[in-house]
Amino acid sequence: VLGIGGVVSIVIAVFAGLFLAKRALIPIQLSWEKQQRFIADASHELRTPLSVILVHLERLFRNPDHTIEQESENIWVSIQETKRLNKLVSDLLTLARSDSNELQIMKQHVRMDELAWKAVQSFQQLAELKEIDVQANIEQPLDMCGDGERLYQLLVILLDNALKYTKEKGTIKVTCRRDNHWVTMVVADTGIGIAKEDLPFIFDRFYRGDKMRSRKMEGTGLGLSIAKWIVDAHGGRIRVESEEGAGSSFTVMLPSRVKDAG
Ligand code: ADP
Repeated sequence: VLGIGGVVSIVIAVFAGLFLAKRALIPIQLSWEKQQRFIADASHELRTPLSVILVHLERLFRNPDHTIEQESENIWVSIQETKRLNKLVSDLLTLARSDSNELQIMKQHVRMDELAWKAVQSFQQLAELKEIDVQANIEQPLDMCGDGERLYQLLVILLDNALKYTKEKGTIKVTCRRDNHWVTMVVADTGIGIAKEDLPFIFDRFYRGDKMRSRKMEGTGLGLSIAKWIVDAHGGRIRVESEEGAGSSFTVMLPSRVKDAG
């Protein structure tokens, strides 16, 4: 169906992913136990999409006469799982690079209000599909010193979660303001909320609320650990307030001047 070329490309892509993952699995500054845990967790998470891709590619091979339409389900699943693998590997690389201090934040002038608008706008369409109302209250101008790319990534992680964990017709509120020498950003949703027993662990690598696993929601359990790294690297703080069934609110406080950033 895909032809030998297609299958070979997928296999090459998977191996390239594994090569990058191998690099990602060598965090230098973690303690030995943490390193072992990181490797075990990462391997486990990588294995799941790989097994699924393998099963679907084998099915394709078994039916060489089938048309693309007949095999569209197999192809679709393989593409989705390859995307998942891609995201997982890039998240792992970010964390591994941050562990080895390879990844440092760039100190530069940033218009946080513009970044926040850009992030909110990029989610607008997805939110409309779920009939979720996105409200933004962003003070202008919000000048600060930091790494624009990373700060944008931080907002995307929080907005992505808010959207993912909020049911249809819910509301997401984004607030950005200056409080003296701090820029405060709040992403609040009316979503499913976080169980009390999960709250202490949600910033840990690979931690996913139990409900998320059982509901088979997409995710890697790495988003919030990357968000925390970005906030820490800027000398800021992140905290969460949440009530099951009522919603969650993530508050990020960043110093407007980052002093000892790389
Ligand atoms: P992922 O979303 O990929 O599972 P994250 O690290 O981004 O991983 O989040 C960790 C866990 O925190 C999620 O599995 C979920 O249980 C919980 N969580 C994060 N954001 C929200 C939110 N806005 N509403 C409800 N639960 C959330």
